[in-house]
Amino acid sequence: MAKNTLLRTIPQFGTVTVADGRTRLAGCVVAALLIAATWFGCVHGAAAAPKIAVFLAICATVWAFAELLTAFLLLSQFYMAGNLSLAIVAAGYLVSALLTIPYLLFFPGVFGPAPVGHGDLQISIWLWISWHLAFPLAVAGAHLIDGSLDTAGLPRSRIPAALAWLMAGSVGVAGALFATIFLARDWLPIIVLAGGHFSPAYKDFAAPIVALNAIAIAIVLLRARRLSRLQTWLSIALLTMVLDGLLNIWSPGRYSVAWYIGKFEALVMATVVLSMLLLEVATLYRRLYLAATIDVLTGLPNRRSFMDDAISALAKRDQQPTGVALLIIDVDHFKTYNDRYGHAAGDDALAAVGSALRTSAVRASDSVARYGGEEFVVLLPDTLVGDAEMVAERVRRRVSDLGIVHEGSPSGRLTVSVGIGYCGSPLDVSEPILFEYADRALYMAKGQGRNCVVLQVVRQKQAVA
Ligand code: GH3
Ligand code: MG
Ligand code: MG
Repeated sequence: MAKNTLLRTIPQFGTVTVADGRTRLAGCVVAALLIAATWFGCVHGAAAAPKIAVFLAICATVWAFAELLTAFLLLSQFYMAGNLSLAIVAAGYLVSALLTIPYLLFFPGVFGPAPVGHGDLQISIWLWISWHLAFPLAVAGAHLIDGSLDTAGLPRSRIPAALAWLMAGSVGVAGALFATIFLARDWLPIIVLAGGHFSPAYKDFAAPIVALNAIAIAIVLLRARRLSRLQTWLSIALLTMVLDGLLNIWSPGRYSVAWYIGKFEALVMATVVLSMLLLEVATLYRRLYLAATIDVLTGLPNRRSFMDDAISALAKRDQQPTGVALLIIDVDHFKTYNDRYGHAAGDDALAAVGSALRTSAVRASDSVARYGGEEFVVLLPDTLVGDAEMVAERVRRRVSDLGIVHEGSPSGRLTVSVGIGYCGSPLDVSEPILFEYADRALYMAKGQGRNCVVLQVVRQKQAVA
């Protein structure tokens, strides 16, 4: 099966990014803290704690929302890339989130007085058991299909239908589990006694929960040839389920210290992968911003970002008592350079020219950008005409001093021509007029044999026009 190239082009994605040392260390620290909390709960957890029904309501609401969001973010990655195994993990989160809703609604005493019938007391604990089994099954199943979780299995055209089926399937599984538990509540083994204490039967059901989640962790670790960031945090989510299952063995029942620690562990389970995904989203915003504003070849701002800068700089006319200059810099005979030395060498030369430009305009208010192709621009706000000429000459000389051999050019080296459009204060000048003059000056520089600077000053009546 083809590797998921779409996500691979975005190296920050945890689905495909191998967990680095820092992620592994963070995972180990979180695991150690969870184990320490569980140990504390086993030793001291039997003590009764205050009964705070609203605590459960808050916890379960957070679990449900965090798991729904996790499912949404994972499914949106599946929507982009069609990696079915990832969608199955998402379905595991979705089923858990959906089961949390009736868990909370039926939890004795949260939304109303505690129910009297033994069956009604069991609904929440059986829902809890069912998602502690469904989630590891989903994660383990996904890893048995594809140990890396990032293999694109579905063609693009089939992804929307698969997504709809997955969501409907998750709702169906959660609905079926709830309906079964609700209808069979009077026949299910009794786990919670009146008063909220666990019956000895809990231990029989803790064993499969602990075992299944531990097996799921082993499957993740063994099937992932190189553990990704997502898999690291999924393992932690599974570990919380192992520990939560164990903890309840020592817990006398609801609202004990151990029970509260278990609820905190469930919070970690619900939020750990979500936190990683949200950090990824923040990183993606940054990448998106950079992709939209920076030219990848030279590292300079691109045309779009330059135009934004130019427009806002020109808008502050009152801060430009000395005038404004726009330099358009065009590499000479560059087509011949590419033809002679190849496109890759042409790219290297453009990157070198970009660096030379960056060091030529030194004031914080100056902006340098790659305008497109082999053309660059420099905006010099609040500049005297003599200084603008000096910067342009510095640009021309620095590029020439790079000493890039160009046998197709009369000078034998790579050079640039520079056109300056200049407007002195207090004239009102629009950015198209400045560009027009700079362009005209560049055209004249090319006409004068290239590797030179030409200045065109905008006169007052032309600027205001
Ligand atoms: P002149 O001295 O009149 O400016 O001539 P020129 O050959 O530089 O101008 P022309 O417009 O004919 O050619 C520009 C060349 O710049 C053609 C194009 O292949 C090359 N070019 C534009 N963008 C890139 C790029 O990103 N990388 C490389 N290697 N070449 C580029
Ligand atoms: Mg050109
Ligand atoms: Mg050129």
